[in-house]
Amino acid sequence: MDEQTRERQRMVERHLIGRGIRDPAVLEGMRTVPREAFVAAELAEFAYEDAPLPIEAGQTISQPYMVASMAAALELRPSDRVLEVGTGSGYAAAVLSRIAREVYTVERHEELALAASRRLARLGYTNVHVQHGDGTLGWAEHAPYDAIVVAAGGPDVPKALLDQLAPGGRLVIPIGETPREQDLVRVRRHQDGTFDRDDLGAVRFVPLIGAEGWKEAPGTGPVAPRPGASRPEVVAKLIHEAAEPIESIDGANLDALLDRIGNARVVLLGEATHGTSEFYRMRARITQELIRQRGFTVVAVEADWPDAARVDHYVRQLPWERAPGQAFTRFPTWMWRNREVEQFARWLHDYNGAVEAPERRAGFYGLDLYSLYNSIAAVLHYLDGVDPDAARVARARYGCLTPWQGDPAAYGRAVTTGSYRACEEQVVAMLRDMLEKRLEYQLRDGERYLDALQNARVVANAEQYYRAMYYGSRDSWNLRDQHMFETLQVLLAFRGPDTKAVVWEHNSHVGNAAATEMGARGELNVGQLARAAFGDAAYLVGFGTDHGTVAAASDWDGPMEVKRVRPAHPQSYERLCHDSTVPAFQLALRQPRRMEVRDELSAARLERAIGVIYRPETEMASHYFQAVLPVQFDEYVWFDETRAVSPLGESTRSAGIPDTYPFGL
Ligand code: SAM
Repeated sequence: MDEQTRERQRMVERHLIGRGIRDPAVLEGMRTVPREAFVAAELAEFAYEDAPLPIEAGQTISQPYMVASMAAALELRPSDRVLEVGTGSGYAAAVLSRIAREVYTVERHEELALAASRRLARLGYTNVHVQHGDGTLGWAEHAPYDAIVVAAGGPDVPKALLDQLAPGGRLVIPIGETPREQDLVRVRRHQDGTFDRDDLGAVRFVPLIGAEGWKEAPGTGPVAPRPGASRPEVVAKLIHEAAEPIESIDGANLDALLDRIGNARVVLLGEATHGTSEFYRMRARITQELIRQRGFTVVAVEADWPDAARVDHYVRQLPWERAPGQAFTRFPTWMWRNREVEQFARWLHDYNGAVEAPERRAGFYGLDLYSLYNSIAAVLHYLDGVDPDAARVARARYGCLTPWQGDPAAYGRAVTTGSYRACEEQVVAMLRDMLEKRLEYQLRDGERYLDALQNARVVANAEQYYRAMYYGSRDSWNLRDQHMFETLQVLLAFRGPDTKAVVWEHNSHVGNAAATEMGARGELNVGQLARAAFGDAAYLVGFGTDHGTVAAASDWDGPMEVKRVRPAHPQSYERLCHDSTVPAFQLALRQPRRMEVRDELSAARLERAIGVIYRPETEMASHYFQAVLPVQFDEYVWFDETRAVSPLGESTRSAGIPDTYPFGL
């Protein structure tokens, strides 16, 4: 099997079967037609992304999921004769020709009709017939058709198409009040000649232009397309006009941003990568202003609780002895063990030093749950000091997890395959006991009890997380984000009723998942949970970049490398931002400076996410997803060119100095 066939199978599994397409003939058709042969050579690498791609004459080849779901909605039989309006590249016609007997397809752009006809002949699709003309009038010569599909959005169902539909036939067409937004509609013609209609959901197609479609010339009445609207260069220009340029991170005027944040209780600051210096520094800058000017006292980050607790100990200058050990030694170390974070922590230390009341000092907390064993150690350490009997019980209970110390994922596997007993009962009992002793412990130990309790919570949720991991990504992803959000709520409650928090996590956690492909897969995230819990009092900020360098690994547990970030995909939000020609900016999306910018960005596009692993060679397959930016974020911060974070640690280690980051001097 060649690479493209493999990618095609993957696309069918992930984007079609994964999203509910079941018709075996449709899936088989999608498995066999080589989509890369229907796009320009330079776009071939993107052929198996579930996205529309540009073709000649300013048109598009439809998204694979859309081609498959329309074909499925046609309920085709092998003997059917099909009419398609809107040949475009000829791809959908080729797919239909694998399912039905004959396909007739009409295209209004002559150059497209010609190119598609040649291409289909070359590839051997002998049962597809292409015609140049206005498809809103159908193709009467070969009527009636058992099925008709229209691949462009019209104001209503063209009468000619209804006439050319055979009794028992199905017609699928996008219909909308404007040329750019539609509902997918299926019309059935009954044996007695009557019709009925069902609605298959909202879609976005290029306009159907013709005698029974929209008029070609712009400006002819309220329903004609706005001149130039949604052409990428127009959107880029709008971004240019609406953006607030950032001249320098240290010097940026953040007054307008702070006004927009207003009285929000939680501000979520994202990042499109886990290793970009500008993202860390800009988040630090915004956070400093929120702490200084708006009384924020919680900085909660995508790091493990016990690791962040060491930074917290330093920044709040806590009076008790710090637990032994090092912070941020787990892969990916550069994510928090870097100069940018160190600098922020030093600032916070000095700032807090000047704050008299300890409860007004801003703390640094970890939301994540990967610290199973450090958290076990922390609970035991606490109980050893305060309640030796309870510590004995805890040791016995947590002993259940000890065999998996080096590889918690193996625990999930062993338990779910039935070869090992789950430790759920024990870890939950531990958490319950810790909660029951709240009054006694908290009264005596205050925040140190909170720390131990949170570690017991991490152990209980991590145990569940590793079991869920065995079943696949959705459940474990959701458990992790739920844990992170719960931790945020615990912090807000603990630090008092008016507490305000800043969160630093990847865009994929802080943007509203409901506005992305993740939502379609049933994944939720911290941003979505915050939006549901706090409404407008949650302010979600995404960060993006076009090109430069980034710190990332090639494989899990691999060494950090400085990798070159490829210029963004032509169909992405990042490309629009790049084409705005503003090198760095803030772009308000909830309250934009120009309303049109929000409208224009509301058409779903690709967005890039670089995690701890970055594989530029295949980034289209692993790092891009579909999103609707203004629903995902309230604001977007852009740095066109970025550079990798500066990792810490190597120099001190190589010089033989004990590595005690952070700040254990
Ligand atoms: N099915 C195509 C494919 O697989 O590549 C994609 C079709 S594209 C989304 C819509 C096509 O409809 C465009 O090529 C456009 O030129 C065409 N179109 C728009 N109005 C039309 C009309 N009245 N008659 C025929 N084609 C039309």
